[in-house]
Amino acid sequence: MRPTVVIGAGLGGLATAVRLAGAGREVTLVEARQTPGGCCGTATRGEYRFDTGPSVLTMPEVLADVFAAAGEDMRTLLPLRRLDPFYRLRYHDGSHLDIVAGREAMAERVRELCGAAEADRYLRFRARLGELFAVEWPAFIDRDMTRLRGLVQPGALARLAALGGFRRLDRLAEAHLTDPRLIRAHTFQSLYVGLSPRRALGVYAVIAHMDTVGGVFFPEHGGMHAVPRALAAVAEKAGAQIRYGTRAVKVETDSSGVSAVRLDTGERLAAGHVVVACDLPRAHAGLLPAGAGDWRLRRPRYSPSCLVLHFGLDRRLDGQAHHTLHLGREWSSTFAALAAGRPQPDPSLLVTYPEADTTAAPAGHATLTVLEPTPNLRAGRWGDLTERLQERLLSRLADLGYGDLAAAPRLVFDPPAWVRRGHSAGTPFALDHRLSQTAWFRPAAASRRVPGLHFAGMYTAPGVGVPPVLISGKLAARRVLENPR
Ligand SMILES: Cc1cc2nc3c(=O)[nH]c(=O)nc-3n(C[C@H](O)[C@H](O)[C@H](O)COP(=O)(O)OP(=O)(O)OC[C@H]3O[C@@H](n4cnc5c(N)ncnc54)[C@H](O)[C@@H]3O)c2cc1C
Repeated sequence: MRPTVVIGAGLGGLATAVRLAGAGREVTLVEARQTPGGCCGTATRGEYRFDTGPSVLTMPEVLADVFAAAGEDMRTLLPLRRLDPFYRLRYHDGSHLDIVAGREAMAERVRELCGAAEADRYLRFRARLGELFAVEWPAFIDRDMTRLRGLVQPGALARLAALGGFRRLDRLAEAHLTDPRLIRAHTFQSLYVGLSPRRALGVYAVIAHMDTVGGVFFPEHGGMHAVPRALAAVAEKAGAQIRYGTRAVKVETDSSGVSAVRLDTGERLAAGHVVVACDLPRAHAGLLPAGAGDWRLRRPRYSPSCLVLHFGLDRRLDGQAHHTLHLGREWSSTFAALAAGRPQPDPSLLVTYPEADTTAAPAGHATLTVLEPTPNLRAGRWGDLTERLQERLLSRLADLGYGDLAAAPRLVFDPPAWVRRGHSAGTPFALDHRLSQTAWFRPAAASRRVPGLHFAGMYTAPGVGVPPVLISGKLAARRVLENPR
C-alpha cells in the first residue's frame, strides 16, 4: 500500500491523519504554516495570546472519537470543561438571557424573562429540537452525504418533513415561540452556516440544539488552540509525519490516479491517496490536476465573513461570561445587508472573554475578542470599511460597558486578512449551506475521475464548523482505507 499525503493541518486534515495513522497507514501531513489548526489558530500580541478561530467546542464526543481512533483518551490528553452559562444573550432593550445547562434550569430562565406560558412553549420547542437532532445526526450529519445514495432515505426525510425540517428556520421557531428574544436566541445560529434565519431550512435548528442543549466546552489548558495541538501530537505519536512550513504545490497523477504531491521545497512525496483538506477554490487554481474539476464549484456562493478584533486588557472583567452575544435592535435588515454586500446597520456582536484560558494573558490581565459578521469580498467592495467598522465597534463597545479600548493592544482580522490567510472570497466560513450547496450538492468528497484523490474540511460535506470538519476527516479516512492503492 502506498503512503497517503494529507494537505492542510486544519481540523479536517488533522482528523484524517490521526485516523489513518491510527489504522496503521503511512501518512504525511503537509501544512503551509508553522503551526497546526488552520482556522483554529493562535496569534500573539505582546504578552497576550488569542485564539483566532472557534472560541468554544460543541459535541465534544465527536472530537473524543478522533482520539479514540488512535487508541488515545481525550479526557487525559485534552481535558475539557463545560462552560456555564453556555452563552449570555444581551438584548437591545437591556434585558438578558443566560443559556444554561439543564431543562428545568433553562425553563426557569425563560420563565423569568418571558413568562410562564412562553416557558411552556419553550419546553415543547426544546423537545422538537431534540427530535430533529435524533433524526438528523445519524441519517444526515454523521454520514457520507456526498454520495447520492446517502440522500435517499425516505423514512428519515419524511420524519424530518413532519418535524418541520424543511420549513424556513424562522417559521419553525415562530410556530413554537412568541417572544422575539427567544426566537432570536434559537435562530441566530443560522449565521454559522452562512444564512439568515429566513433563508435557512429548519433542519439547521439542530445547531441550536447542539449549543443550547448539548452545551459548549473549552479546554482546561491552552485555549481552543490546544485542540489542534493535541490532535497533531496524537497523529505524530501514531506514526504520521507532519511537515510544517511546507506548501503542497501540485498533486501529480499517472494513468492509475494520484501518484505524488510536489512540495514548494521541490521534493516529491509519492502517494497512493491524497486527501486535500484546504481551501478548495484555491486548490483548483493550480494544486489539483485538471481532471479534478467539480461542477459544484462553478458558481460558488460564499458565506458572509467577519471582522474580528482581539484586545489585550490590563484588567479583568467582573462577572463577564465566556460568551456574550449583544443582539442589535435590527434583525432581518441586518441579514439582508450582509447578503447585499453591505455591513450590518446595527450589528449583533459576539464578545468572547476566555477567562478559563490561563495562557491568554499575564496575571491580573485578560483578553477580549469581538466578532462582527460582515459581507465577504465577493459581495461588495471592501475599501476603507475596516477603519470605519473599527471606529463604530470601539464606540459600541464603550456604550456596552467595556470601557475605552482604543489604546488597548489590538490584533485585527478583516476580510482582506482572511484572504492573506488563504481563504477564498475573504471568508473563513467557505460556502454557505443553502440547499444547493448541502450534502450531495456540496463539492464532492472524492474525485470521480482521479482515483485516489479525496477531500476533507469545510468545503465538502457535512460542512463548516468544528464537528462537521472532524466528521469529514472520518469519512475521508474511511474512503482511503476502503480503497487500497
Ligand atoms: C473567527 C472564527 C470563528 C469560528 N467559530 C466557530 C465556532 O464557534 N464553532 C465552530 O464549530 N466552528 C467555528 N469556526 C469554523 C471552524 O473553525 C472551521 O470550519 C474549521 O476549523 C475549518 O477547518 P478545515 O480543516 O476545513 O480548514 P482550515 O482550518 O482552513 O485548514 C486548512 C489548512 O490548510 C493549510 N493549507 C492551505 N493550502 C495549503 C497547501 N497548498 N499546502 C499545505 N497546507 C495548506 C492552511 O494553512 C490551513 O492550515 C470559526 C472559524 C473562524 C475563522
